Amino acid sequence: MNYFEFTAFWRKKYKMAMPKWSTTLEKKQLAYLLFLVVLCLFYMARTSFDFSGRQLDMTTMAMERFDERLRINWGSTVLDTMVVEKEHEQLLADIEAHIVAYLYRIPDYSYIAPMETYLKYRPQLLEQFPSAVPLEKGDYAVSSTYGIRTHPISAKRKKHFGIDLAAPLGKPVYASASGTIVAIVYSKKGYGTHIILKHRFGFETLYGHLNKVLVLEGQKVKQHGVIATVGSTGSSTGYHLHYEIRKNKTKIDPRLSLGLKKTIYDDLIELNTTKDGRD
Ligand SMILES: [Zn+2]
Repeated sequence: MNYFEFTAFWRKKYKMAMPKWSTTLEKKQLAYLLFLVVLCLFYMARTSFDFSGRQLDMTTMAMERFDERLRINWGSTVLDTMVVEKEHEQLLADIEAHIVAYLYRIPDYSYIAPMETYLKYRPQLLEQFPSAVPLEKGDYAVSSTYGIRTHPISAKRKKHFGIDLAAPLGKPVYASASGTIVAIVYSKKGYGTHIILKHRFGFETLYGHLNKVLVLEGQKVKQHGVIATVGSTGSSTGYHLHYEIRKNKTKIDPRLSLGLKKTIYDDLIELNTTKDGRD
């Protein structure tokens, strides 16, 4: 059998098999095919989910590398040379290109650590996401942390999604970052009178059990701007502020955010004094 005979033979065989195959494709097989397609789609959705997780890991690793290189330069005395300075500016520009996407993507404050050195160069970024205590120093004491606790009224063990700061009645409550007032709710239950603020990078903050509200819905506020006063409205047993942070719609532990701005600025002040000392 030569080549032409061979292909003709198989073409004929195939043509004979075709109609048979198409008529046997019945409901059962169609259902099976549909099942396979759904399975494929499900698998694809899952891998893309994994992919976003992997992407976050990779970005975090990249941030850690940037941070290491920045730290080497931080407070260095050899910065005067043109080459080093140029390299340094390039490095900052490289990080800047990634930083916004990174801040939008991270799920909580544990991911801020790799960018702490960067924040020393760009501390104004700290004004745009929760990085400070919403009460004045000396006005408050932490009375309940984030996590599982026995509820003071119902006595049931329940997860506490925020942090409680005990403070006297009428003490000013500050916005922990710049943003927009998205909700003011007057309730007799739960959070009582409370305010929700929307910030950049997918952050939201909630201030609960308030006495007086000093802002309007839709109003833009600056970080450290007064928004309300401490009270005990809603399900509360004493004067305190219930403070909550949500990141990409999920409630997270605000603990690491509270001292963030102070830590960065303390380091900046320390660096400036040592530099002055050298001069
Ligand atoms: Zn609370």
